[in-house]
Amino acid sequence: MFIVSACLAGVKCKYNAEDNLHPQIRELLKQERVQLVCPEQLGGLSTPRCPAEIAGGSGEDVWSGKAQVLTREGTDVTGNFIRGGEETLRIARLLGAKGAILKEGSPSCGSSLIYDGTFQGVKKPGQGVTAALLRKEGLKVYSENDFAE
Ligand code: SF4
Repeated sequence: MFIVSACLAGVKCKYNAEDNLHPQIRELLKQERVQLVCPEQLGGLSTPRCPAEIAGGSGEDVWSGKAQVLTREGTDVTGNFIRGGEETLRIARLLGAKGAILKEGSPSCGSSLIYDGTFQGVKKPGQGVTAALLRKEGLKVYSENDFAE
């Protein structure tokens, strides 16, 4: 069993109430091989919601208190992102999940790229808040671009 970003399977849980449907991942869902999660919804954020990015660091820095997650309007949603990561980890442990396939680029789910905090559409190397926690706790984390490998 793998944890999967719900938006990759077609759930409209993105900040703008859209999805990031990936046909191969929807196929894994049909085969009952994955458990869907949306860390931002699990953290108590609504859909649609104001987009958020990590300011001043990456997911690891959020967990060590060195960076925050801010919305485009400047609201601090760090607590929601932390809660979403913790709940995702809880679900992974309850299921005995081997790993996760998470949406690349997201401030929660990005596994090798995240937006740079300027809301200009610029990405930089780094992990999102949930991806960083799952990796720290020993789960393998893939994106939609590399899970097939
Ligand atoms: Fe998709 Fe993750 Fe963003 Fe939820 S938090 S919409 S699962 S990328």
